[in-house]
Amino acid sequence: MLDLVVVGAGPAGITAALYAGRSKLKTKVFEKLGVGGQLLLTEHIENYPGIYQMKSYDWIEMVKKQLVELKSVELTEDVKVESVECKDGFFKVFYSSQGQSLKQFVETRSVIVASGAQPKRLNLPNEVSLTGRGVSYCATCDGPFFKDKEVVVIGGGDTAIEEALYLTRFAKKVTIVHRREELRATAVLKEKVTSNEKIAFKWESLPIEIIGSKKVEALKIENVKTAGNEVIPCDGIFIFVGFVPDTDFLKNLMDLDKEGYVLTDEEMMSSCDGIFACGDCRKRALKQVVTACGEGALAEYHVEKFLHNGATLG
Ligand code: NAP
Repeated sequence: MLDLVVVGAGPAGITAALYAGRSKLKTKVFEKLGVGGQLLLTEHIENYPGIYQMKSYDWIEMVKKQLVELKSVELTEDVKVESVECKDGFFKVFYSSQGQSLKQFVETRSVIVASGAQPKRLNLPNEVSLTGRGVSYCATCDGPFFKDKEVVVIGGGDTAIEEALYLTRFAKKVTIVHRREELRATAVLKEKVTSNEKIAFKWESLPIEIIGSKKVEALKIENVKTAGNEVIPCDGIFIFVGFVPDTDFLKNLMDLDKEGYVLTDEEMMSSCDGIFACGDCRKRALKQVVTACGEGALAEYHVEKFLHNGATLG
């Protein structure tokens, strides 16, 4: 019987695991891809106190090293948690590993859900068929394929603007298509993006169709005020319109909001006693590495109190 299962190894899950390891809780961390979560999609960390422009990759390598040194924590990558059952005062966490169709399970006294979120799709015509053929949700991964090409970025939040700026290293032109006339992104990013000569804007415009058969050729947009259409020829389309939480495996077990984010109390406990949540899968206002780490630490602290008090599960 484990003390704790942590679902997800992004900044929130990693921090929870680090704290659990330091407290010698018998812990397993299941990560469906690789350590880092959303950080795998971004190049730098800039707004974490004490870190001046560190490469995300270096940060991930450092925390991995910290984790490996903790004897009571076992990290498993490429493992997807399929469901969680609450049974007779403990939890059964079902998971599948890549290449194995059979579901396996572990038993644990508590769970921290730090499963994060994934990029939202727009469901535009041809979006699915051209994903990987010019349509992308990750500039860090795909930017270098667009050297001296023209690309479009859809969205006006922090992610869209950071990624648009990153893409200017490769592309000869980046056009940002945003549905309003003001960016949602923070002031510092707004300043950087508006002074970048490679970046153009299409304001108050909604994407309506991705054009191309074997690869992206253009994006069709519609002006929200005039309803007029325009076709922007381009080689790549990067979509950054927010995220959806990875919480399908928790349905019917706890309260989620209408978008699927886990609702917790101040102690990070979900409506199911013994299951805690932190990071991007949890309903909260500010999604940053620093807040994810803080929540991971808090969640683990409250897990310890919960285990110590021998509370009833379910
Ligand atoms: P976001 O803040 O939710 O922004 C999504 C953007 O996409 C908004 O500009 C939104 O337009 C637009 N959008 C949404 N649905 C759309 C649709 N159907 N069609 C067209 N446009 C659509 O998402 P995000 O930028 O991914 O950021 C998520 C969270 O992570 C935020 O809390 C952000 O601050 C944080 N983050 C922080 C950093 C950092 O600190 N360096 C970096 C990245 C992300 P409207 O503006 O009109 O709603």
